[in-house]
Amino acid sequence: VAPASHKSREGIAELFEERFDPEDPPETAEELTMFARERLGELIEDADVGMTGANFIAADSGTMMLVTSEGNARKTVTATDTHVAVAGVEKIVPSAEEFAPFVELIGRSGTGQDVTSYISTLTPPVDSPVPDFEDDDEPLADGSGDDRDFHLVLIDNGRLAMREDEELKETLYCIRCSACSNSCGNFQSVGGHAFGGETYSGGIATGWEAGIEGLDTAAEFNDLCTGCSRCVPACPVEIDIPWINTVVRDRINRGEADPGQTDWMFEELVPDEEPAGLDLGTRIVGNYETLAKWGSRTAPI
Ligand code: SF4
Repeated sequence: VAPASHKSREGIAELFEERFDPEDPPETAEELTMFARERLGELIEDADVGMTGANFIAADSGTMMLVTSEGNARKTVTATDTHVAVAGVEKIVPSAEEFAPFVELIGRSGTGQDVTSYISTLTPPVDSPVPDFEDDDEPLADGSGDDRDFHLVLIDNGRLAMREDEELKETLYCIRCSACSNSCGNFQSVGGHAFGGETYSGGIATGWEAGIEGLDTAAEFNDLCTGCSRCVPACPVEIDIPWINTVVRDRINRGEADPGQTDWMFEELVPDEEPAGLDLGTRIVGNYETLAKWGSRTAPI
């Protein structure tokens, strides 16, 4: 589903050819998938450290839940002996019991599945043995995972300040299911590169960007939300996304952002200097009353 869902099969084939120059370039979906799988497998075998995010972290036990479509997080954690998990502080919930409702909401809201393909709950450092990829016969022969290392990096980066901001704090409820993007007409047209920032994409990205990166970067795409409200019933945690976008727009308009960020809009709205005389085509088409009269008279012909 991400991050390459906007790419065509042909586009992926081209990219693989350009980057890896394979002897026998893969073309079909199956060949491309197998090529990616083998290439990633080689990289994973060589890796010393595995990095993941975390969808939720239980405060009482340190257990974390990871939701993926391809099993990549689980592979990352088990195949390497050092696991570094990086997550925003808003991902912390009291205990593993609170994982249950969210795991249902993410799959159903994001992709329409009852549950997503891979749900991993782990309490690091996990004690499964680190595989020895050189040993084809018994890769897990070395026994325990005693020498595994684990580091959790919790990111604030503006989130705790957002929690104190009465108008932006709802943004922190977001579970990143992407239902708002799926229901947004503008997002479907322009995609996440245009409608999104560093933190997230789609309608909810404005709130994230305003709280974490600042109003200047939120101003770059805030206007892509027209306030149509289609995303409101789609959001499983009932965030009023258009309202957050209105709040951010209001702050930008009050001059709280760098004014240079909106100069482009005024330049687009002000017409270029008019030429001294209009050309014949413009005069005819622009004079629509006469054009309509002549059109009616000559229509039977
Ligand atoms: S704002 Fe709501 S719908 Fe959008 S990604 Fe977050 S939880 Fe999902």
